[in-house]
Amino acid sequence: MDFDEYRKRGKEMVDYISDYLKNIRSRRVFPDVSPGYMRHLVPESAPQSGEKWEDIFKDIEEVIMPGVRTGRVPTCNAYFPALNSFPSLLGDMLADAIGCLGFTWASSPACTELETIVMDWLGKMIGLPTEFLHSNEQTMGGGVIQTTSSDATFVSVLAARSEAIRRFLCVQSGIDAADINARLVGYCSDQAHSSVEKAGLIGLVKMRLLPTDNNLSLRGDTLQEAIDRDREDGLIPFYLCATLGTTGACAFDNLKELGPVCETEGLWLHIDAAYAGTAFICPEYRIWMEGVEHAHSFAFNPSKWMMVNFDCTAMWVKNSGALHRTFNVDPLYLKHENSGAAIDYMHWQVPLSKRFRALKLWFVIRSFGVAGIQKHVREGVRLAKTFEMMVKKDDRFEVPAERVLGMVVFRLRGDNAYTEELLKKLNKSGKVHMVPAALKDKYVIRFTVTSQYTTEGDIALDWKIIQEMATRVLSEDDSVEEEEVEEEEVIEMRHSFCTSPATCQKCCVRLVSKAGLL
Ligand SMILES: *Cc1c(COP(=O)(O)O)cnc(C)c1O
Repeated sequence: MDFDEYRKRGKEMVDYISDYLKNIRSRRVFPDVSPGYMRHLVPESAPQSGEKWEDIFKDIEEVIMPGVRTGRVPTCNAYFPALNSFPSLLGDMLADAIGCLGFTWASSPACTELETIVMDWLGKMIGLPTEFLHSNEQTMGGGVIQTTSSDATFVSVLAARSEAIRRFLCVQSGIDAADINARLVGYCSDQAHSSVEKAGLIGLVKMRLLPTDNNLSLRGDTLQEAIDRDREDGLIPFYLCATLGTTGACAFDNLKELGPVCETEGLWLHIDAAYAGTAFICPEYRIWMEGVEHAHSFAFNPSKWMMVNFDCTAMWVKNSGALHRTFNVDPLYLKHENSGAAIDYMHWQVPLSKRFRALKLWFVIRSFGVAGIQKHVREGVRLAKTFEMMVKKDDRFEVPAERVLGMVVFRLRGDNAYTEELLKKLNKSGKVHMVPAALKDKYVIRFTVTSQYTTEGDIALDWKIIQEMATRVLSEDDSVEEEEVEEEEVIEMRHSFCTSPATCQKCCVRLVSKAGLL
């Protein structure tokens, strides 16, 4: 492919992407394929000589798309949103073309400098204390873009671990770092994301899951008691990962209580706000952040709700020295004239190199503006609230955890088996897609507003589908012929005078058949 052909194919690809995104409603939300589906569609070995682009391009529809879970379909209410936007796509396109590696300032000054600037912008946008900003000359704080929240948590565990070992070695000599490591214990709530447990596993430190209160929130007393018990047993408490917006129910740990405990006990406080972080751009949600001033590190995923496509995790620390001490290796081939005078992000992360992710973040923030992103968040919350009200009006259902942002958890009253059966049938129908969570002993269905194209019509339809399925689950006579329901069925909410409802953003038409969405 030469320059001229790239120009042509590039434009075709942009057209293909635009059509794909514009007509996303016509795609099946969950792929109708079985493991191994692709093996029959591609040759066993790589082609000996290069193929024509036309042939490669054709296989996107034939090989790839049948196995793509189109999470951006408004009928998808699973996981958390993994949003995207045109400015973000353009940012990644340019970043891929520039292809810089960004490990030191000198390896690509623009990559490092833009990252520090947009991370300061973003930190101010969510109201982080200035100690977390690069521009604050009084602290060694600043932001870095990590790949995922799991990475950010892992980095915080490693930094906390090396700080704890260093501190302990200062006060007690004649003891080996490995012995201290073996006595370290970190904490998170029993609602924390599995990545916290994983960070403990691979960081070789104990990670204790502490019980939460009735609101699924970790409280200060619980942490204090755990610390006291562990100290009595000769362990060294060193770390807490508090979650703002848990994956299961979007619950919030009580930072106002936990922060002071971490401070007096000398624990590194990391905050995982993977999903909810975007909401803090709206000042009305910052009450959940109260106590953030006690944190050592804070991370959230613009790749979830902020319309920046995956991957992009924003992480801030108050003291980047702790990261340096953890990750600092300085081989000669990476030294440059400005070593020490500028930020070298290789000391802030596990990998050496990094992609130019700051570009897409910069494009998105500038294109939408703070107000545009606030509007997007508020709309998602409004739609979730609408759904919550519908659920609450039907006595067969309950909402067992408070809804704060764009996610509602609900279940059928009574035995968990009803809700399990309901979810199984709903997902099997291909009309909606949701995932479950376990809140203490309750099995719940998570309903998340995952697309910026979701409308009230979508929500109403989803609810109608859920209600009808609930009727089937609860009716003793579950022998209602599967076939009848699988028959073609048009569900439609057309806005007045619309002539092309299938692609109209305001309408909601779903032709549901055996083959899925048409
Ligand atoms: C989604 C989520 C994660 C994991 O995010 P990755 O970026 O995929 O690692 C971690 N914590 C919470 C609370 C989440 O909701």
